[in-house]
Amino acid sequence: MDDLRIGQGYDVHKLVPERKLILCGVEVPCENGLLGHSDADVAIHALMDALLGAVSGGDIGKLFPDKDPAYAGADSMKLLREVLALPELSAYRLFNCDITIIAQRPKLSPFREAMIKRISETTQWDEKRISVKFTTTEKLGFAGRGEGIAASAVVLLGK
Ligand code: MG
Repeated sequence: MDDLRIGQGYDVHKLVPERKLILCGVEVPCENGLLGHSDADVAIHALMDALLGAVSGGDIGKLFPDKDPAYAGADSMKLLREVLALPELSAYRLFNCDITIIAQRPKLSPFREAMIKRISETTQWDEKRISVKFTTTEKLGFAGRGEGIAASAVVLLGK
C-alpha cells in the first residue's frame, strides 16, 4: 500500500426553530434544528468534504448544488453513499475517520454510539475505524451562543 490520502472537511449550519436536528444520521431531540437545503447534517457534510478532499474530488457544493431541487430535504446519508460510489473514491479503503461536532448544546455524548453505528451501516466501515467527538466552545462565538453547529472531519484512505 503506497498510495495514502488524507482529507479534511469543515461545515457550519444555522440553528433555527421547527427543524429536526440530525447529526451523523441520528435525530437528536432538541427544540432547534439545523437549517439547510438538505437535512443539514453538518457532520456528514464535513465527512463528505473530507472524503472528496482526499482524492482531490472537489466539494459537496459542486457535487450537490443547493440550487438543485433534487437535493431539497435530501438525506445526507444517501448523499454519503453517492460520494463513496464515485469511481475516484471506490478504489480506496478507509483507514479511519475522525469527526468533531462543535455545539454548545444539546448534550450529544449519549448519541455517540448510535452515530457511529449509523455511519458504519451506511459506509460498511468497521465501527472501530470511526470516531465521533463533541466539544463546546465555552459559550464563545456562534456555536457557543447556540446560533449554529459546526463540524470538522479528517479521513485517511489508502490503496
Ligand atoms: Mg452543509
